[in-house]
Amino acid sequence: MGGESTPSEKPKGTYPKLSAHPVGQWIPNIYKDRIGMFYSGGQYEGKNLRAMMNDGVASGSPHVKLSVWDAPDLTRPTFKDATSHEFKSTSVGEWFGPSWSTHWFKVQLTVPSELRKKELLELHWDANNEGMVWTEDGNPLQGLTGGGERVEWVLPDNFRDGKEHIIYIEMACNGMFGNAPGGDTIQPPDPNKYFQLSKADIVAVNVVARHLYIDIWEIGDAAREFPTDSWEQHKALKVANQIIDAFELGSQDSIIKGRKIAQEYLGKNVNSSDVYKSKNQPIVYGIGHCHIDTCWLWPWAETKRKVARSWSNQCDLMDRYPEHRFAVSQAQQYKWLKEYYPYVFDRVKAKVKQGSFQPVGGSWVEHDTNMPSGESLVRQFLYGQRLFESNFGERCRTFWLPDTFGYSSQLPQLCRLAGMTRFFTQKLSWNNINKFPHTTFNWVALDGSQVICHMAPSETYTANADFGDVRRSVTQHKSMDQDETSLLVFGKGDGGGGPTWEMLEKLRRCRGMSDTVGMLPRVHMGDSVEDFFDRLEKRAEDGLDFVTWYGELYFELHRGTYTTQANNKRNNRKAEILLRDVELLATLASIKGSYKYPKKDIDDMWEATLLCQFHDCLPGSSIEMCYDDSDELYAKVFDAGEKLLKDLYDTINVQAVSTLKSKDNLVALNTMPWHRREIISTGDRQAGVACGEGNVLNIKTFKVAETPEVTVEEIKSGVFVLQNDQLRIEVAEGCITSLYDRQAEREVIAKGGKANQLVIFDDKPLYWQAWDVEVFHLDSRKELSSGATKIVQNDAHQVSVMTETKISDKSWVKTTISLSAAFKGQQSYVEMHSEVEWKEDMKFLKVEFPVDVRNTEASYETQYGVVRRPTHYNTTWDMAKFEVCCHKFADLSEHGYGVSILNDSKYGFATCGNLMRLSLLRAPKAPDAHADMGRHHIRWAILPHQGDLSSTTVRTAYNFNNPLKLAEAPAGFSSTASSNPIKLTGNPSLILDCIKRGEDDEDVSRGELEIRKGKSVIVRIYDSLGGTSKGTIETSLDVKKVFRTNILEDDEDEIKIENGKVDITLRPFEVATFRLQL
Ligand SMILES: [Zn+2]
Repeated sequence: MGGESTPSEKPKGTYPKLSAHPVGQWIPNIYKDRIGMFYSGGQYEGKNLRAMMNDGVASGSPHVKLSVWDAPDLTRPTFKDATSHEFKSTSVGEWFGPSWSTHWFKVQLTVPSELRKKELLELHWDANNEGMVWTEDGNPLQGLTGGGERVEWVLPDNFRDGKEHIIYIEMACNGMFGNAPGGDTIQPPDPNKYFQLSKADIVAVNVVARHLYIDIWEIGDAAREFPTDSWEQHKALKVANQIIDAFELGSQDSIIKGRKIAQEYLGKNVNSSDVYKSKNQPIVYGIGHCHIDTCWLWPWAETKRKVARSWSNQCDLMDRYPEHRFAVSQAQQYKWLKEYYPYVFDRVKAKVKQGSFQPVGGSWVEHDTNMPSGESLVRQFLYGQRLFESNFGERCRTFWLPDTFGYSSQLPQLCRLAGMTRFFTQKLSWNNINKFPHTTFNWVALDGSQVICHMAPSETYTANADFGDVRRSVTQHKSMDQDETSLLVFGKGDGGGGPTWEMLEKLRRCRGMSDTVGMLPRVHMGDSVEDFFDRLEKRAEDGLDFVTWYGELYFELHRGTYTTQANNKRNNRKAEILLRDVELLATLASIKGSYKYPKKDIDDMWEATLLCQFHDCLPGSSIEMCYDDSDELYAKVFDAGEKLLKDLYDTINVQAVSTLKSKDNLVALNTMPWHRREIISTGDRQAGVACGEGNVLNIKTFKVAETPEVTVEEIKSGVFVLQNDQLRIEVAEGCITSLYDRQAEREVIAKGGKANQLVIFDDKPLYWQAWDVEVFHLDSRKELSSGATKIVQNDAHQVSVMTETKISDKSWVKTTISLSAAFKGQQSYVEMHSEVEWKEDMKFLKVEFPVDVRNTEASYETQYGVVRRPTHYNTTWDMAKFEVCCHKFADLSEHGYGVSILNDSKYGFATCGNLMRLSLLRAPKAPDAHADMGRHHIRWAILPHQGDLSSTTVRTAYNFNNPLKLAEAPAGFSSTASSNPIKLTGNPSLILDCIKRGEDDEDVSRGELEIRKGKSVIVRIYDSLGGTSKGTIETSLDVKKVFRTNILEDDEDEIKIENGKVDITLRPFEVATFRLQL
């Protein structure tokens, strides 16, 4: 090469050689904080995006003319009634009340000419309380919630004609959460709240500005919540600030420009449901929901209106947002809607058909699952599924219980038997000790049945559909090693409401964001709850072994709900027992004679009982008004039941005895399906022995042997000995200091221990008074010391001593300890009855039984079985169970011997080491300031037994809860005629728990579902102790065929009947239903 040079081709770049001026790097926090200022209220609201949200407003006369009629005395009149009254003129600024009152507004709207061509016209109405918009001719259209929560109602296009149009607004003087005073929602309601109507305007909405508001809200969230080491976060910050920079007050063009900038982050499709059409795989599935507590901080009457308000809102949103899907549980609420709001019900029905409104849950209400009996749980599903099927042509496939306080161990089995394979909840996210480890898993019942359970990882059923909720659907997902999908259940709730347009708009942007920049989990709308679970089931079918959880989903909070509102709980137990008796006797009467099975009465009684099992009613966490309501409902149940029983006694030719005239033909009424031999008082210190099987037992005279079978004596001052052939009890200072089992030759009470000791605790939980008893209450234990004990009964058949214990100046307990004569071969027990006058303040009353029994686990009766729980505090999981639920008994047994504590109306229990403790009464002051104040009667018993927990305890607990009833029969009456035509023999752990008529039998059916020819009897049997059990159903009825059915009474397998005998085998803790076709 020579020395010449060729000029090289230089790029023609414009990158300046010299720096023009200094440029600083953004200081992230300052730019982040600036974003909220752009769309929030406060000092800049007149200058920021908010100032441009409206395109014109018309207020006051002549455009918005208001008049009102005040409904008298807290009544809730119908539209027809309300609009028949004279309305008087009113205006914005007026106050309305008091709490719970109703005010009907006539709203005369004339759209001014300058607004008629605007894109979107809304009525904005805000009185800080709940309302319902009605058409002039009485159709309920949409609910309103004050306080800015849901204040818009879209004006129909025909209102733009320049003429006056009339609507009515029904104002309810309560907020979404009732009428709590001040900011503490759970305090008892203030009866004297007034509400100011602050806004009643016709508003022309600047739709583009409204959209930009949602755009920057979501992009702002990305800037605030995405990790700062991600480019997606930096980009969000940039885009949001560019939108703000582009904004000029008063310039619509600047808003349009802002939206264009937003597209860089959200994509182009967020203005419609088209955003969900991208082919990218979503992992979060949004489902609209609206949790309406059937009662809680408001009474049932308000819930009926909340349902209409909330669900009509959703029908309206479905018209505007085709992707919107809305899942709703609780058959009772559908029934109310159908009865009181047929117009809304028809709208709902159309939306169900179209697939956007989705009935879920399959149960009558979202009930408590700890305390209802097994049969109650069955009926929650039976009544629920029948309502769904008869109204919508389909049963639910998902059991839906997001807010209930823990989930008892047999639910998976009952779900499967009710046609449901899936379960949705999230409440365990409230645990305050241990974090539940799974999001999606197989939940397994005592008998081994399973359902797929999903607990929304956003940990709420009332999500606001915020960016954060979508994000938490992944960050808090605990099962992602198996399946990363989840449900996002959003919508205003507890007090109703449901999703808002804002939420649906936000989700569109979340999806747009995932498809455009990524990072945010991709959310999808338009699928149903069933679609979601279908995919999980498919994965299980394809071989994915989901993690399992065996047994109860114990809720580590709200343990006080086993005890609060004692009267209500007692009524629940009594109603369940009464219904069992009525159904049993009515079935036999209607099969054998001309007696017409009282299906409607039974349905009404069950529906009332099921309603009262709602998860704030039975647990005791509602306001006082709700317990006035439930008292009334239970009174109706008891009244109806007693009337039915009276008729039924006539069919078996006996009469219940209240006052004894003649004593010649006394019999005992029995509804337990096994042989019983018991002492029954026949009044006047006399007693007889009822003995036999069947519904009517003969009573033999109690013969006094030369040595009395049971005695009492005061062996030294204040120390009494009660004794029968099996037990010797020593009572000192009101407590049992010795309980000696004469057959087993062992002492039952721990050395130095005092059984039947009443103890009291300070009971101030961290917040939720009626709900919670917190672990630290145990530290405040105080023994109550008793007054003098005296002998109050010294009869040949039974002896009793009574002790009065002062709790405070206002409260006392009278406890009677009784021992009856023992029968050979039948375990004797010590029975206690206490009368309590309870006027305490945040105290917890319990009774203790320190027993000489050692085991690391105790047993507690639950629905259709027994659940074992630790008696120690080894781990935090064990310790969390310091207060647990039991039904009719709790038992602590060691090898060869044990002690059961029976009760007639209680559900709270604890076993700590060898100390058994039955919870009696609490005294929370919120949300009911008077919860449990007054008089209570409580029965319990100590049943020592040789051997492990056995059918002795199970059956004695049934008998204890179903005392024989004294009745009178005509002379010459033979009890064999009333022997039960359906019997169960075989393994004594099998319990024949229910006998009823087939729901759809032609002489029983009320026509809601297809009628079945002929008569049939439904028999429900379960294994109570957890072993494979064989038995035989023996019947003297003319049974043609026998079918095994599910709990919805669908025939499954036909099984053989020979000579009136059907052999059965049940799995451990299995619930089996049989249909005997006559
Ligand atoms: Zn709830």
